[in-house]
Amino acid sequence: MHELGLVIQIVRQVENYMVENNLKKVEKIVLQVGKLSEVYPKYLNDVYPIAVEGTKLADTILEIEETVGLGKCMDCHFVYDLIENENLCPICNSKRFNVISGKEFLIKELHAI
Ligand SMILES: [Zn+2]
Repeated sequence: MHELGLVIQIVRQVENYMVENNLKKVEKIVLQVGKLSEVYPKYLNDVYPIAVEGTKLADTILEIEETVGLGKCMDCHFVYDLIENENLCPICNSKRFNVISGKEFLIKELHAI
């Protein structure tokens, strides 16, 4: 489970940002996690309380926004949901695609005071 390491990195990043910008408190962190990123939101939520314990983020809410895994067919250029269609273009049945979205793992928003 690599989620704990990832969450600890996020916590450090946010703490540094707070110091740099003189912020007292961050009420909420919104993370964007792609469905193709191999990071599981459930595990992120499980390890988050451990990662923030004793830090400036102890009372900060974690919100996770999942992004859909979209691919663009290299043969007919149709854009489709890769997971729902099991990596097969629903129009021409091609298996060749470029990933457009779904690999994100980033801080999308910080709600700070
Ligand atoms: Zn196609």
